[in-house]
Amino acid sequence: MLMMSPQILSTSTIPQDLFKYAESKGFGDLHIKFDPETGLRAIIAIHSTKLGPTLGGCRCLEYNSMEMALYDALRLARAMSYKAALANLNYGGGKSVLMKPHKIIDRKAYFAKFGEFIETLNGRYIAAEDIGTTTFDMDTIAEKTRHVVGLTKVKGDPSPYTALGIKHGIEAAVEYKLGKHSLKGLDIAVQGVGKVGYYLAKELHQSGANLIVADINSSAVEHCVKEFSAQHCPVDKIHQVRCDVFAPCALGAILNERTIPEIKASIVAGGANNQLSHQDDGNLLQQRNILYAPDYVINAGGLMYAASQYDQTPIEVIKEKVNNIHQSLIDIFELSQRENLATNHIADLMAEERLK
Ligand code: NAD
Repeated sequence: MLMMSPQILSTSTIPQDLFKYAESKGFGDLHIKFDPETGLRAIIAIHSTKLGPTLGGCRCLEYNSMEMALYDALRLARAMSYKAALANLNYGGGKSVLMKPHKIIDRKAYFAKFGEFIETLNGRYIAAEDIGTTTFDMDTIAEKTRHVVGLTKVKGDPSPYTALGIKHGIEAAVEYKLGKHSLKGLDIAVQGVGKVGYYLAKELHQSGANLIVADINSSAVEHCVKEFSAQHCPVDKIHQVRCDVFAPCALGAILNERTIPEIKASIVAGGANNQLSHQDDGNLLQQRNILYAPDYVINAGGLMYAASQYDQTPIEVIKEKVNNIHQSLIDIFELSQRENLATNHIADLMAEERLK
C-alpha cells in the first residue's frame, strides 16, 4: 500500500488559493469526475510526467470539504514525484483522492466508474492501493483500465520491499554515523509494527539487532516479542528510548518540536511517511547531531515494487534497485555534511534537480 498519514491535515493548513498553490509547486494538471449514480467524487492530481507516467495510491476517505480533498491530492501527488525521482524510477508523481460518501451503495459500480475515469487519461495516471482502498478495488478498476497495479492475483502488498529498503537505509546510516558495517548487537527502537514495522523487525532480527517495539495494537507487539525476542515499550515512550536507531513506522509528524529534544538515538531512520511535522524540524535534528534518513528516500522500496508490476521489471532488478537505497542515502549524508544543510533539504534539492 502506498500510504501517507491523513491525520496531519487540518483546515488551517490548507492554502487559501489552491490553484496558486498548484502553480507554485509546479503542477501539471488536475482532473475531477462526478458521477451521481454511484456517488463517485474523484480527483486525480498529476504533478509531473517529466520522468514518465504518474504512479500513486488511490485514497478513499470521507473529507470535510472539497478544498481538503483537493489539497490532499495535490500535496500527495507532489510527494510521489519526489519519491520516484530520487528512487531513479521513470515515473512521475500523481495521486487520486475519492471523496467517500457516508456509505458506498455499490462498491463494484463505484470503483468500475473510477476505472473508466482513469482510462480517459490514457495512462498518464496509474492507480495503486492506499488508505481506504483494497486489492479487490484494484481488481475492479482493472476491469476498465490496465493503468492500475496491486491486484489480488499478483502479490500486491509492497510492505516487504518497503521494509527491505529501510533495512538497507539503516545499514547506510549506521555505516556513516557509527562506522559499523553490521547491525549485530545494535539496539533499534521500532515505532509501529504493522505491515512495514513487522517486516522491518523481521529483517533487523535476522541481522542480529536487538529490538524494542511499541504499537497501540497489543497483538502486533506480542508477535514481535515472541518471534524476534523484542522488548516492549509504551507507545508514548518509544521515541525516548536510549538506543542506536529510532525507526518510526507508524504515524506522520512524529518528529516535531516536542519529540525531537527527547530523542536519545543518534540515527532516525524508519518507514513512516511525512515524519517531519515541518521541514524546519530537519534542522532541529541536524542541530542535535541526529542523522535523519529522509522518509521518502528510505521508504521507496514499496514504490519500486509497485512500478515493477506495471512495467514487468524482473524481481531481481527490483531487489537491486531497493539495494541502491543504501548508496542514495550515503550520497545525501555526505552532501548534507559538505553543504551544512539538513538531510531532508538535500533530498528535496536532489529530487528537484531531477525534475527540472
Ligand atoms: P499499518 O497500518 O499496517 O501499520 C501501522 C501500525 O502503526 C499499526 O500496527 C498501528 O497499530 C500502529 N500505530 C498507530 N498509531 C500508533 C502509535 N501512536 N504508536 C505506535 N504505533 C501506532 O501501515 P503500514 O503499511 O505498515 O505503514 C506504516 C507507515 O509506513 C505509514 O506511515 C505509511 O504511510 C508508511 N509507508 C508504508 C508503505 C507500505 O509499503 N506499506 C510504503 C511507504 C510508506
